[in-house]
Amino acid sequence: MKRLIHLFLLSIILMAINISHAGEQCNSERVKLQMLGTGGPELLNTRASSSYLLWLDDKARIIIDAGPGSLQRFKQSKANFNDLSVFLFTHFHVDHSADLSAYIKGGFFTERRSDLFIYGPSGDTFILSAEEFVKRLFSVKHGVYPYLSPFINHDAHSEFKLKTKTIEWTYKDRNIRSIHESEDFSIKTVSVHHGPFPALAYRVDIAGCVISFTGDMSGRLHTMPDLAQNSDILVAHNAITEDATGTPQLLHMKPSYIGKIAGRAKVKHLLLTHMMARSIDRTDETIQLIKKEYSGPITFPNDLDSFHP
Ligand SMILES: [Zn+2]
Repeated sequence: MKRLIHLFLLSIILMAINISHAGEQCNSERVKLQMLGTGGPELLNTRASSSYLLWLDDKARIIIDAGPGSLQRFKQSKANFNDLSVFLFTHFHVDHSADLSAYIKGGFFTERRSDLFIYGPSGDTFILSAEEFVKRLFSVKHGVYPYLSPFINHDAHSEFKLKTKTIEWTYKDRNIRSIHESEDFSIKTVSVHHGPFPALAYRVDIAGCVISFTGDMSGRLHTMPDLAQNSDILVAHNAITEDATGTPQLLHMKPSYIGKIAGRAKVKHLLLTHMMARSIDRTDETIQLIKKEYSGPITFPNDLDSFHP
């Protein structure tokens, strides 16, 4: 009997710990999400292609995607490359990854001494995995920039190394996976559908706040609402309009589906990016469609705009 009471008390204590953790208040002042690129792949306007920067306590910690032009925004943001811990790649299309090599070369001229983590999905015939992407950029034998091979070669001297990890993508595995834990934040990912291309969405839990990123996706795996559950900010890609047909709607989600994700996940603030010619002039219509499913605030940010959760 005594043992039973002990077990009962223990379970109450554990429950209390759990609840207090789950209900951890978002420390909004400590966290900032900055847009480094709100455009798509078109040569259309002055927006950089996809990229987002997460700050914690005024330090730049995580970059999500590194599309062309976003490195210039990183410089404008006055972020310090030494503070960065992680690059997350949703997938390795050009408009999400072209600036990575320029970051690494630039990093040579900094005081950085700690390794840099890089995560991205597995590949297939027409797109590379994270590890293959980095290897083909920097390997000494067949790399595009073999002179930067010390950043991946452990036998050569460099002040920091790239720690690249491929996250397996399959249609079958729709589970949310934890990929990175540190004292300051934890990162989870899930497979999403982006036509035939392996792609990942991400969720970052940081200082009690939750920031999620759809990346490019059509919504056909229906994995995003669970991943983004209770997000303080969700960044969703508004690359097409509701009347899209053919390939674009195989690659990207329609506004009504963005609304469904935001509504089901109980998102507190929805940011719409990856703007393209076909979506940029129809934001009023997009807002109306999203509002049918989601009643929170919706913002179309520009490059360098910042948001506290
Ligand atoms: Zn893409």
